[in-house]
Amino acid sequence: MIVDLFINACILITFTSVSHNFVINKNISKNPSISLKISIGACCGSLGILLMFFGVHITSTIVTDFRTVPIMLSAIFGGVIPPIITVIMMCFFRTLYFGISKAAVVSIIATMFSGIGFGVISVIKKTRRDKWIYSVIYSNLVSTISYIILIKDRIFLLKLLLVYYIGISFVSYFVYRYTEYLCELVEFYNRLRNEATTDFLTGLNNVRQFDKIFNSVSKQTIKDGKNLSLLYLDIDYFKKINDTYGHIAGDTILKNIADILRNTCREIDIISRNGGEEFTVLLLDCSASNAVRIAERIRRNVEVNKFYISDKVSIYVTVSIGVSMYPGKTNNIDMLLENADLALYEAKRTGRNKVMVYNNK
Ligand code: GH3
Ligand code: MG
Ligand code: MG
Repeated sequence: MIVDLFINACILITFTSVSHNFVINKNISKNPSISLKISIGACCGSLGILLMFFGVHITSTIVTDFRTVPIMLSAIFGGVIPPIITVIMMCFFRTLYFGISKAAVVSIIATMFSGIGFGVISVIKKTRRDKWIYSVIYSNLVSTISYIILIKDRIFLLKLLLVYYIGISFVSYFVYRYTEYLCELVEFYNRLRNEATTDFLTGLNNVRQFDKIFNSVSKQTIKDGKNLSLLYLDIDYFKKINDTYGHIAGDTILKNIADILRNTCREIDIISRNGGEEFTVLLLDCSASNAVRIAERIRRNVEVNKFYISDKVSIYVTVSIGVSMYPGKTNNIDMLLENADLALYEAKRTGRNKVMVYNNK
């Protein structure tokens, strides 16, 4: 029996290890969405079925295994909804695969009680560790009652309970700790991935992400025969602002400019901070006249905005914008950024606070 339970534990650990790859893009730790909760429930339900399938036959109808662990996990990491799904899946399988018997009825009732109990514990207990401790105690209680009902041989019952208590405590603790470690790993991975693509100050795309998006967007634009416009924006006399009001005030202005860009552009436009006080906006499938209109609107929204650098002090800031368009003003999409930069240079040279369009046609 111990060997069979060991195999059961190995299945549990392997399944947990593999399934974490499917949630690598999701954040389980903080308020999982409904769809993620359903996925957790379904995943733990599948694991429970697998454990029952490879369970230890004590008699022809009584099967023991670590099926309570996936129910426990789904409640600890997902709250109330996942264990309900897990339990429904497992009860269906128990009935369909092993048939109806006294053992099946007791097992189904015990599984349901486990699901409800773990769900309640997950709501009333704050930390995951407490949830695990109380779930194990509760699970042992439910299992003990079920085995007392089903097994008449008291000596065998005592031996079974002893092995089961030790097994479930060790295995559930290991799997719980391992799942927690995997959650931390996923969170860490997502944070690193986010930091690699996002500008920390403004939350916009950073220059690396801009390059990546620009490459794919430009290829798609050529393939679809559509328009692509690029706005290259630079804050006027930003060094002077930094020198006069300090670097923190400068940072506040950068964040505010990012907000203005977000509020002025369309949802589909790609806004990036390409460095220092320079920003770009990629306008997808946007005609030349619309691109100029959007650029002008940005310039105007910045010009009229009061930038609060402290509770009492506000200043005005202006920006210059260079605009390039494919295929309207250039035939070489790869030169879009350079072209917009040239137009920006022209805007600076001829007085700043203006929109200039690159034209090579
Ligand atoms: P121009 O109108 O010609 O663009 O003049 P400018 O002063 O804006 O341009 P310049 O390139 O001389 O100065 C850019 C300044 O931007 C210099 C640098 O200190 C500042 N800067 C770059 N990155 C940051 C940042 O992250 N935070 C702050 N506060 N300032 C930054
Ligand atoms: Mg600059
Ligand atoms: Mg500048």
